[in-house]
Amino acid sequence: MENKFSQMYEKVKKYCAIDGISRHEEMVVEEMKKSVLNDNIEYTRDGMGSIIFSQKHKPTEGPIIQIAAHMDEVGFIVQDITEKGQLRLSMIGGIWPLTVIGSKAVVYNEKGEKFFGVFGHTSIHILELEKRNKVPELKDLYVDCGFKSKQEAEDNFVEVGSKVCLSGETFLMNDEFVVGKAMDNRAGVAVLDEVINRVKNVKLNSQVYFVGTVQEEVGTRGAKTSVQQIKPNIAIALDTCASHDTYQCISGTQELSKGAALRIKDMGTLMDPKLINYLVSLAKEHNIPVYKYVAQGGGTDAAELQYGNDGVATITISLPQRYLHSPLGVCSLKDLVAAADLIEKFLLKINQEEFDKYIKYS
Ligand SMILES: [Zn+2]
Repeated sequence: MENKFSQMYEKVKKYCAIDGISRHEEMVVEEMKKSVLNDNIEYTRDGMGSIIFSQKHKPTEGPIIQIAAHMDEVGFIVQDITEKGQLRLSMIGGIWPLTVIGSKAVVYNEKGEKFFGVFGHTSIHILELEKRNKVPELKDLYVDCGFKSKQEAEDNFVEVGSKVCLSGETFLMNDEFVVGKAMDNRAGVAVLDEVINRVKNVKLNSQVYFVGTVQEEVGTRGAKTSVQQIKPNIAIALDTCASHDTYQCISGTQELSKGAALRIKDMGTLMDPKLINYLVSLAKEHNIPVYKYVAQGGGTDAAELQYGNDGVATITISLPQRYLHSPLGVCSLKDLVAAADLIEKFLLKINQEEFDKYIKYS
């Protein structure tokens, strides 16, 4: 495998291994700090926990740019504990329950200690016939950590509100596809990390803020607060999106291996057409695979970023993914590298003159 792909694989692997459901993103923050900080890079935090990296020496001219990748992942917290010690769950973000049933759960107690468990179910042998053809719902979900009673769970500091994370190992398929837990959005975090590292020692002609946002999965909350602090002129949300290239999937244009996907529209945002055109021609100039697409649902941090300042030229650069919000998601390393290449070239080129000429409303 080419170096740039293996390097990206290592980054994704590192970030996917971290547990960070919404409101509990600090372990992702620590890894990002370790990976990107040097003498040229500083950071601030906002009051909800998003981390904002930037170069220490900021140019006085040029547009202000925010590039945001959400750090959080979907999961659960403990809703209550049954008398037999099994954990009933409240969902953080959207999960189709049947994708986790039978898989390994990782529970963190209130001291931060880890317990492994099983997303439990009734064995088929003793399941009532009428239930076999029914899809399980959230109310049917529980985690079994082997506690024999509620008291035993509580003696181990597993309480109402304790975090319950999905688990899945990270591996490579057919030398191109990276598989892992929390691919949404650690793939985006890995690309953001890659871009920061590529440009951190370069003299840029704009003020660029690289943001790991919090709480995207529960309503793009970290984008809402960080954009108020940064007040950008241009915003890029970097996130995974659903690919339509698997058996029996509804038709759609996003596929793995086609490059970085430039989102035109979703439920929360109509992306800036001037910014889209600018990126498309930049991609052509540098032979970077990109394509435009219309999302058939959902939204990203872009939905909040667009309202920063007095209105922001905003786009979502998407990384197509199979099996979102489940224990194992799949992305193509080619798409991740294409996204990093595109953003790097954009940051190297954009300046006040380019912004005024091609992007700003006049
Ligand atoms: Zn996402």
